[in-house]
Amino acid sequence: RKWGWSLAGELRQAAARDPGRVAVIDEQGAELTYQQLLDRAERLARAMRTGLGVQAGDRVGVLCRNHHGLIEAVVAATVLGADAVLVNSGLSAAQLATVTEEQRLRVLVHDDEFADRILGLPAEVHRVDERGLEELIAGALPGDLQPPERDGRTIVLTSGTTGAPKGARRPTPNGFGPLVSIIDRIPLHTRDTVMIAAPLFHTWGYAALQVAFALRATIVLHRRFEPAATLAALVAHQCQALFAVPVMVQRLLDVPPPEPRPPLKVVAVSGSALPGGLAPRFMDVYGDVIYNLYGSTEVSWASIAGPADLREAPTTAGRPPHGTRLEILDDDGQPVPDGRIGRIFVGNEMLFEGYTSGARRETHDGLLDTGDLGRINADGLLFVDGRADDMIVSGGENVFPSEVEDLLARLPQVREAAVIGVPDPEYGQRLAAFLGLHPGEVLDPEAVREYVRHYLARFSVPRDVIFVKYLPRNATGKVLSRELRRYYG
Ligand code: ATP
Repeated sequence: RKWGWSLAGELRQAAARDPGRVAVIDEQGAELTYQQLLDRAERLARAMRTGLGVQAGDRVGVLCRNHHGLIEAVVAATVLGADAVLVNSGLSAAQLATVTEEQRLRVLVHDDEFADRILGLPAEVHRVDERGLEELIAGALPGDLQPPERDGRTIVLTSGTTGAPKGARRPTPNGFGPLVSIIDRIPLHTRDTVMIAAPLFHTWGYAALQVAFALRATIVLHRRFEPAATLAALVAHQCQALFAVPVMVQRLLDVPPPEPRPPLKVVAVSGSALPGGLAPRFMDVYGDVIYNLYGSTEVSWASIAGPADLREAPTTAGRPPHGTRLEILDDDGQPVPDGRIGRIFVGNEMLFEGYTSGARRETHDGLLDTGDLGRINADGLLFVDGRADDMIVSGGENVFPSEVEDLLARLPQVREAAVIGVPDPEYGQRLAAFLGLHPGEVLDPEAVREYVRHYLARFSVPRDVIFVKYLPRNATGKVLSRELRRYYG
């Protein structure tokens, strides 16, 4: 597969080769074929050019949940040579204002449900709601689209776990070309039917969309993730694959499995760590289907674990694909021995070029610092231990929250667990564990501490154990530790 990959290019190719093939199906069962999707996107492009004056080099924001409108807006902007900025639907009004200003958005295509959240944006940002989008498409003047003077790009924002979301520019025009190499590592075929539940505005959901287009797959999209509706759609449309984030997979296990089961070959997850025990539990119900991909907006994808790896080592992120270098380095940039924790560095053709703000990430010998800690075992399997910034230093000892979280998640009563460091007068930091329990379960904090003490060193035992209904998470399912810190005022 060649590099000049773009969503628009792939859509045009799919429409030329398979015009009548259904491209997208929504929650009501409404369908659009590849040809219809392309026609709508091209009409939208013409209307954006003549009606809204969108030109090459402009930025068009797209604030949509998972539906065809997001695809149409991205394709329309980029075929005009404008950049499409995919905006995270979980952002607050204040964050949306910052993103709009920093990304210099001229137009914002948005779902109706976000109308209130964008009220405060400057008047010169042209807003297109769902009716507006339909009107533009219906009213487009006929004519050909000339090739733009520059290639439009897609800008994906980081999920803002560590601060304000940052725009990441990809190296190729609109492209995540080699992302499509995921196809080589998962058993999917041309014209399969797939459901993308991961948000399309996030690197992972967008990557899945590219994979689906490259396969000329039929893509099932629901605006919101709802476990029972997802399972019903997987059965109704006989999906071979589901692209999701780990917390969605966890929530699928909260509802009874459908009979008969969907014909899944692949449940691919990425975007945050796979909690300990989740993969085997899911595979016991739905078969050996889980693929865990480790990556980020900056490095795209860096490693993959398949079902056999996950049966062996349930939290592994597997091995890097061909063409990707992954190294665990110490603070001096030296490789650490197998089994030892260090910083994960990644080198591949897909590394981002830099943030749209101009900021860059540190590199070492062509490898990008992911900001994550991890280790590689004797079998060459990668384990991601979380962000270096999240590491807790308690009484001078380093504690990795993920290690304690994985242990806690293995308690049968626990549905989800998060561990953070909180200031402590005696130890500098102490551990606080936030636990969400399965319905009807109770746990005694001292029993939780006793359990951890049995497996881990004394300094890894959470002194505070707090029970919550649900952990606060962002749209990609990452636990928002800053929200947990609020508990401490
Ligand atoms: P920001 O940079 O704004 O804080 P973010 O880094 O959360 O946002 P993403 O690029 O979406 O934005 O997240 C990438 C991070 O998610 C990785 O660096 C890693 O910490 C985590 N991650 C992603 N996939 C996995 C995985 N399979 N296993 C463990 N961690 C993962």
